[in-house]
Amino acid sequence: VKHFAQPAREGAGARPGREEAEAAVRTLIAYVGDDPDREGLIETPARVVRAWEELCRGYRESPAAALERTFEDVGGYDDLVLVRDIPFVSHCEHHMLPILGRAHVAYYPGEVVVGLSKLARLVDVFAKRLQTQEKLNTEIADALHATLKPRGAAVMIDAEHLCMSLRGACKGGARTVTTRFTGLFRDDPGEQLRFLALLGRGEPG
Ligand code: ZN
Repeated sequence: VKHFAQPAREGAGARPGREEAEAAVRTLIAYVGDDPDREGLIETPARVVRAWEELCRGYRESPAAALERTFEDVGGYDDLVLVRDIPFVSHCEHHMLPILGRAHVAYYPGEVVVGLSKLARLVDVFAKRLQTQEKLNTEIADALHATLKPRGAAVMIDAEHLCMSLRGACKGGARTVTTRFTGLFRDDPGEQLRFLALLGRGEPG
């Protein structure tokens, strides 16, 4: 899990300071045609920078920490665990506009299980970064697999990309669905169908 534990800034230069970030927002305000010195906008660069610190806090979090507390005593339970409809807000790396969606996260426990809320935290570790949906989906599934060592992990993401709804194609309501399977989910199409059926998306049986 080593490569997940560090912020994804390989190849990035030194992190700029907050003042530099605020100056960039001022420039953007002027670029779109407004006056960054008028009263209503004077505090905006500071607010925008604070908002982005929160929206991108995932760079400072690690999946290993999110999944740290595990349990071995589960009364012999060894079947699939599914947490569905985990809401998330991420931002696309192409336009920095919101991706609003839900993640469905399942695994077959190996030696341990993890608190259910921790799976939601895991989603946020990667959602609170600049993302593509494909990469977000892969990172969640692979980090779950690497950290918890389950017999298999399955992740589906269903999301609306506001860069597609608000600009360009302007197709509001279009949703993108992605999946990633590891372990026995990857090896057994029947397990994939069971996962999809539990989400109300598969063929019955
Ligand atoms: Zn985009």
